[in-house]
Parts: sequence; structure tokens; C-alpha cells
Amino acid sequence: MSERINWDAAVALFKDEATEARMHIGKLADQVREAQHGRRTTFVHNLQINPSNICVRDCDFCGFAVLPGQVGGYSLDEESILQNIARAEPSEVHIVGGLNQEWGFNRSLQLIKHIRAAFPKLYIKAFTAVEIDWFNHQSKISLIEVLEKLKNAGLDCLPGGGAEIFSERIRDKLFPRKINADRWLEIHEAAHRLNIPSNATLLYGLNETIEERLNHLFRLRKLQDKTGGFVAFIPLALQGGKERLSPLDNLSVIAMSRLILDNIPHIKAYWPMLGLSTAAVALSWGADDLDGTLGLEKVAHASGADSPEAMAINEMTRLIQEAGYEPHERNGRYS
Ligand code: SF4
Repeated sequence: MSERINWDAAVALFKDEATEARMHIGKLADQVREAQHGRRTTFVHNLQINPSNICVRDCDFCGFAVLPGQVGGYSLDEESILQNIARAEPSEVHIVGGLNQEWGFNRSLQLIKHIRAAFPKLYIKAFTAVEIDWFNHQSKISLIEVLEKLKNAGLDCLPGGGAEIFSERIRDKLFPRKINADRWLEIHEAAHRLNIPSNATLLYGLNETIEERLNHLFRLRKLQDKTGGFVAFIPLALQGGKERLSPLDNLSVIAMSRLILDNIPHIKAYWPMLGLSTAAVALSWGADDLDGTLGLEKVAHASGADSPEAMAINEMTRLIQEAGYEPHERNGRYS
């Protein structure tokens, strides 16, 4: 597919929910994936760290967080976080958590400094735009200063979480207290301008329309045209929601992402939410990366994902080979 898909063509292509039409977009996406990455499929030995599940927001769909003072809240200490990293020996850490007063900007900044000092080669992906916004308000220093300080402390990349879906109709209904779409995009643009790359996500399965999904992807494509700072896109299927998503629904979103986001290098099949078998099939629907081995992953599983919480490197390799692809363990920089 050589021409960039415009809005009208995208609506026409993705509105058709017949199985044949979906298989057609799967084939188109596979051709794009094959042209960009061949049979190469990457994954990273990473460790997910969620310092605290206590959060002052109360997003409707979130099965991970509890409000301050509620039972079930936890907060890790720095020592145990460093010990977990030393034990797992990952090449990348992915750090995200709730908006907890105990984990304000200064403590979070110190955590990045300590991790960088102890593990100089580790790729540190940390703090969603929602957390960056929280640091900005809570520390009373500017957004740019927050990002610069984190970068100087050793942060390599921002994760893509918190984007959810850009539709304000859905945001108002399900997570009105969360930052809006413009703010999420503003924070990622600011990071890119400081040469901090980032990922982007889409949360779907919220009874959104095809146009709302497409609007999300087109806004990301537009920002990427401007900055080039997004490295990977990760569609996330809502766990435990009312909308029943079939494997074909999930595969169609992967294909749609590959076709619309022609300027973002990598599309991830996030196996903790898709399940292992759908993630493996997604490699022939446009995905070229299976994310990571993800020890200690809590967010998706707290929301009802039933895949294993972590995967060994040899299992990841086998899964990719069985799907007919070449497994390559990568680092956070995709090399
Ligand atoms: S989705 Fe994020 S901001 Fe919302 S309640 Fe959960 S942890 Fe807090």
C-alpha cells in the first residue's frame, strides 16, 4: 500500500465489519509490516515496576488503583525496587503507578537517579503523561523543567499510557478527572522536543465508534509528522468491560493501527491484554513487537487479564518461532 490513507478512505475501509473486509485489512497491514520489518519480531527482557497503586483519581475502568485510605493500597520502598531490578536483570524497566502524595515529584526523581546510578546501562522508561502532569502541578515547576530534570536524572523514554481514547465524549463519561487529550498530546510533544522519545497507546472496547478510534490514530499521526518522537504504538483492549471483543476485533485494531500510523516504526501486540495466542496471530496482522517478559506486571492483571504475569525469554522465543517469525531480543532502543 503506497498511498497514505486519508480520513474518508479510512472510514470507508474500517466501517465494514464483515469478516471478509476485516481479513482484507489484515492482509494489507501484513504487507506493510513485511515491507518494514520482514519476518523480524522483537521483544525485550523488561521488568514492570508499579511503585504504588494508591491514586487520587478514580477512573471508571481502572482495576489497579485504590483511593488513599482504602484497603488494598500498597507503596513499595526504593530498596525493594532496586532489589527487584538486581534480581530480574532486565535490559529495560517500565515504571508506572498511581498518583500518590507519598510518591511526589522529588521522590520519583530520586528513584530515577538511584536506578541510573545502580544500573548505568538499563533503559529507563517511566511515568505516563498523567503522572508527568501530576508532577508538574504537585512540584509547582514547569512542565519543561519536570521533563528536563527527569532526563538529566537518567530517564530514557516515556511510556504511552494514559492516552486511553482521545474522544472527549468517552473521557467525560468514564474518566472526567484525568488529563484531557490535548494535555496528553502537549506533554508528549514537549518530551519529543527535549529528545525524550515516547510510546503511544489506545484503550479500546469502551463502546467507542470507529470514527472515535480513527480520530485517536489520526491525531497521533499528525503529532508524529511534527516531532517524529513516537517509537511504538500499543493498542490496549479493555479488560473486563461490557463490550465483548473477539480475537478478530482485536486483530482488526492492530491492522488499523499499522495502516494509519505509517510514521510510527513499531506496533506492539501487548500479550498480557490480548492473550498469548491472539498476540502470536497479530504478528501477521501488522504487529512486529511482543513487548516484554514483564515480570511483576500488575496493571493489566488487576483489571482482569488472564494471561501469565511474566514470560521467560525462551518461551517468548518459542512463541514467535511457532508463529513463523524470527525472534530478536532487543533493548529499549530497539537495537
Ligand atoms: S487509570 Fe491511572 S489515573 Fe486513573 S485511577 Fe488508575 S492509576 Fe489512577
